Amino acid sequence: MATSAAPETRPAKVWWSNATFFVGVHIAAAIGIYLYPWYSVPRRTLWLTLVLWQASSLGITVGYHRLYSHRAFRARLGVRILIACLGSSALQGSIKWWCLRHRLHHRFTDDPVHDPYAATRGLLWSHMGWIFFKPRYERMNLVDSDDLEHDPVVRLQHKYYVPIAGFFGLALPSIIGAAWGDPIGAYIWAGLLARILAWHCTFCVNSLAHWDGLQPYSDENTSKSNFLLALLTCGEGNHNFHHAFPHDFRSGPCLLDWDPSKWVILLLHSLGYASGLRRARDEDVHAALEHMSKHENEHVRGHVHGFEPGYHTIPEGSVARGEDEEAADVWTGKVWTLGQAMQYARAGKGVGRCAIIIDGFVVDATGYLGEHPGGAAIIRKYSIRADPGENQKEGAVLSESEEVWKEASWAFHGGLNQHTWAAKRRMRELRVAKLSDD
Ligand SMILES: [Zn+2]
Ligand SMILES: [Zn+2]
Repeated sequence: MATSAAPETRPAKVWWSNATFFVGVHIAAAIGIYLYPWYSVPRRTLWLTLVLWQASSLGITVGYHRLYSHRAFRARLGVRILIACLGSSALQGSIKWWCLRHRLHHRFTDDPVHDPYAATRGLLWSHMGWIFFKPRYERMNLVDSDDLEHDPVVRLQHKYYVPIAGFFGLALPSIIGAAWGDPIGAYIWAGLLARILAWHCTFCVNSLAHWDGLQPYSDENTSKSNFLLALLTCGEGNHNFHHAFPHDFRSGPCLLDWDPSKWVILLLHSLGYASGLRRARDEDVHAALEHMSKHENEHVRGHVHGFEPGYHTIPEGSVARGEDEEAADVWTGKVWTLGQAMQYARAGKGVGRCAIIIDGFVVDATGYLGEHPGGAAIIRKYSIRADPGENQKEGAVLSESEEVWKEASWAFHGGLNQHTWAAKRRMRELRVAKLSDD
């Protein structure tokens, strides 16, 4: 059983440069708006404020979030460059900086130590408190970043982030405003104020979307679905769906969900600038909905005791097991020895099959590698043909004596990722045999 005791949080250094800049922009915008109120600003400057606020928000939601953090689709070079510029203009850090923290958030949602903006640390912390500190994220090295390192746009934007962000976020609004003789007004409104709007709307996804709303897909963490948030964040409102199916390019499965980010991705796709749009399987979405409605009924009948949504610590070496896993252990399929499992793994085409051992079952993840929200590399590390300590051996044909592998149960059940009910269900579908005790 999982224990519910939360680990202690450790003190982190104050991030003075970030804190000073963040507070300074708020003060400068307040003074600027006081001296230059909306009724004295040219209408074109107000329109520019709205357009640049939404453009930077889309850079974050379509680019930083769905494209780069979750690999929900692929985009051509021109789109990636545009996204890097728009995302930079939101002044929320480089793509690499942002994505790595966001991947940690999904892996360890609500964990007060490993989730950078854990909702379990309070509304203010999850909204903006976390950006005032500079903690050392001990599990950052577990997050897959190969895809980010291999993208030249990401590398370049990370290297020259400060001048790029300064130009697109603060200088460009003034340059555009100068076209109608209002560079100062454009700086205050479309520069400073639009940045603040983009900041707080994005931050609401970490705070409001983990605080109030509905949980139709999963109640294993604090993520909620909230329509107000969808309006404020270019469609990121169905956060409960997003945490259950993070690789989906849509924020929600319904056609009528308010989701301008999804519409932009569909437009890019129809124009040939985006491809490989990933979406959750309908059967998985329906199964999650059904599971939740059953779960809620059980709550009403008082049959479920002691369940606390939120963070659960999984001690290393132990495995959290729920009723679903135990029911699935009534196995009527094949039973293999370890030798037979290794033979199965070797028998695949090319470098063999990607077979991993979870809960005493052989799970064939070969066809799932491209679908895995956390990337293929992490699964390959646990493949019974790969040495988890030596990545350079991945893909190599190993001799029998070299076949070192690591049982993946701890990693799967919270050690490296707090997988949801939907993810566990998908994993069970991929089981090919049970391991015999000998
Ligand atoms: Zn979240
Ligand atoms: Zn996300």
